[in-house]
Order: sequence, then C-alpha cells, then structure tokens
Amino acid sequence: MSSIRLEGIVKRFYKEKLFLSEKSKKSSAILALDHIYLDVKEGETLGVIGPTGCGKTTLLKVIAGLERIEEGRVYFDDKDVTKLRPRERNIGMVFQTYALYPHMIARENLAFPFRIRRWPESVIDERIEFTAQTLGVGFKELLGRMPRTLSQGQKQRVALGRCIIRNPSVFLLDEPLSSLDAKLRIKTRTEIKKILRKFSVTTVYVTHDQSEAVALSDRIAIMREGRIEQVGTFEEVYAHPANIFVAGFVGNPSMNFLTFTLGEKNKRLVMVDPVSDAKIEVPQEWERKLRDKKMIGKDLIFGMRPEDIRLDEGIKDRKENFFRFRAKIEDKEFTVDNKTHLFLKFSYYRLIATVEDHNKSFPAIGEEVNLIFPLKKGKIFNKKNELAIIS
Ligand code: ATP
Repeated sequence: MSSIRLEGIVKRFYKEKLFLSEKSKKSSAILALDHIYLDVKEGETLGVIGPTGCGKTTLLKVIAGLERIEEGRVYFDDKDVTKLRPRERNIGMVFQTYALYPHMIARENLAFPFRIRRWPESVIDERIEFTAQTLGVGFKELLGRMPRTLSQGQKQRVALGRCIIRNPSVFLLDEPLSSLDAKLRIKTRTEIKKILRKFSVTTVYVTHDQSEAVALSDRIAIMREGRIEQVGTFEEVYAHPANIFVAGFVGNPSMNFLTFTLGEKNKRLVMVDPVSDAKIEVPQEWERKLRDKKMIGKDLIFGMRPEDIRLDEGIKDRKENFFRFRAKIEDKEFTVDNKTHLFLKFSYYRLIATVEDHNKSFPAIGEEVNLIFPLKKGKIFNKKNELAIIS
C-alpha cells in the first residue's frame, strides 16, 4: 500500500500535424492536465468526478504511467515513480471495458501473470484462494467459466479479481460500473465497497456518477478543464463549495443561482436584483466578509440548494431569516424517494425546489406559490472571479 502524490502535473495532447512550428504546435494542443497537485493518503479511496473531457482518465493514466507528462512529478510514498514504466509501479487497473483474455477460463485469467513468471502451482493456488475469499460468495463458481459465458457483472468481478491477485500497492478504477444496468450497478458498488474496505488499498476511482463517488470514496476531487477545483469529503464540498462550478456540479438537482448587486442602506447591507425586484437584507454574520472583500456595488451570485427551498406554510419563526419569493410551478416530477421536484419560474429565473410530498393541498402545475429559503443555508459567490465568499 502506498500514498500517491502528484506535483504540478502538466499533460498536453498534440495534434499530429507534421509542419507546425513549436509555437503553433503548443497553441493548438489540448491541455488535458493543467498543473495538478493531489495527495491520496495511504489506504484512502479518492473519487474523481467532473464533466466529460475534463481529464479524469488522463489523470489515472498518468498515475499508472501510461501517459508521458510534460511537467511535474508522481510519487508513491516518497518514491519518485515519474520515470518508472507501468509494470514497475505495481498498480492494479480496472477499466470500463474489462479486457479479459477471451480464450482462457476465468481462473487462467487470474493465474496468467504468475504463469509467465513461472511461479509454482501451489503459490498460484494460494493466491487464487485469497482472491476468491476477498471477492466473496459465488466467485469460485465463476473460475471454471470462459469469459463469453459470463454476464457483464461477472466479467467485472473477474477483472477485479485479476487486479487484486497481484496485491497492488495502488488500485485505479475507471468507470468500472458504467456498462452495468442500474440494479446491478448498485449491487456491484456495494461489493466493491466491501472489497476496498477489506483490502484497504490506496484507490483512485473515476466516475461520471456522483452517487457512486459518494458511496465509495473517503474523499472526492472535482475536476474541470484539466484542473482540480476542490478536494474534500462529500459533506465538505456539498456544504462548503469553493466556487460556483463546484456548487453547481455537486448535488442533484443542481444548486439554483440568482444574481444580486450588493448595496448599502441605513448602514446595513442589502442584496438587490433590479430585474426580479428581489431583495435580501444581508444577515449580520455575513456583513464583515462582504465588506472585507469590498463587494459593495459589485455583483454577487446567491446559491440556494433545491432541497432547502420550502413551500411557505405560514412559518412565523422570527428567529430565522428567510428569503421569501413567489413563483409559478411550470412542472413537477416525483422522485423514487417520495419527494417532488418543482420546476419554478421566478421572474426571469428557472429554479428547482425539492420538497417533501406530504401535503394534501399540494399545488398544481400552473399555480403560483409562496416559497421560503432559510438564509443561513445560502451561499454567496463573487460573480467576477466565481469564488465563494459565504460558503
Ligand atoms: P470522459 O468522462 O468523457 O471519459 P475524461 O474526463 O476522462 O472524459 P480524458 O479522457 O482524460 O477526459 O480527456 C481529457 C482531454 O484530453 C479531452 O479533451 C480529450 O479529448 C483529450 N484527449 C484524451 N486522450 C487523447 C489522445 N490520446 N489524443 C488527443 N486528445 C486526447
């Protein structure tokens, strides 16, 4: 088991044109990784999420040694492995497509790397036994079968087994569940979680699926355009996003954003949106930060999570400050966990509120409703640099 440390990794992909000058070659290149710094602790599972094309797979390949980098260093513990070849790094990788050897039964797929090194049969047997125990119930029954006779989920288990059997010090998983159907995905996810816990090997797990990342990871890293925007536990990045991108990316449905200008009236700060006419008196506990950042007269982005917006049922809690607004329900959608997404039109904004569906007199599509949002749940970002001020 090793920790992983990335220091200032830069990776560009160049267009394959023969007669480009150095300068135009560089300017037409794709900057897949843009000065990445990352620490993965020993035994930790780090989930990597981000929009398509943001560099997740490239990041994994760099850790694995499958992509050459232009700048930066890769360390496993304190050992600089930047120049080591993939097979010298002792990593286990499972990709989206499980490249099993099609002409060998599952058992031989596991044993193959040892056979070519001429390990004694008894030691190979021991390793297979250990792997089968780690992978749990039903795995042994798969060992005698050819890959073509296995389901996607079973192939995936064999691929995991082939990784584990080599006792890697680092485990790299790239969307390993994406070809499974929804039900099997959740089942296999639980299985992988158990394995990771039992095996407690340092793991980097790339996925499109946020709920998968949350379920499996100790911490998550959110990437955008070759950069890491924030790293933390899900609770941290959900509750305290560092910028507008992370706030909008983490959480489903996405955070709602409204634009306000910060003004001052009778020595108190107020956020005003001249178009929607919305106004928020800034709670005292936010004032200092906004003044320190010299935001008066500047534009702010105000973030509200859908699940924090509620229908106003005449709450008169004077202690709590609310943003109250009236919006039209344009559509609604029931969720499997017995909630309702309300698609709202408020002035020129389209907002989403996720509410508990328990009210008999639940409003219908087309109706106008009063809504409230507790200000203490609000996030404020600087519109210009997109960084969080209150988060
Ligand atoms: P996805 O979620 O769609 O799998 P990703 O986040 O894993 O995407 P990468 O595959 O790492 O993204 O790609 C990062 C960027 O580098 C993309 O713009 C991609 O087009 C580009 N890229 C990746 N591999 C190559 C390559 N071999 N040649 C040229 N460009 C590449």
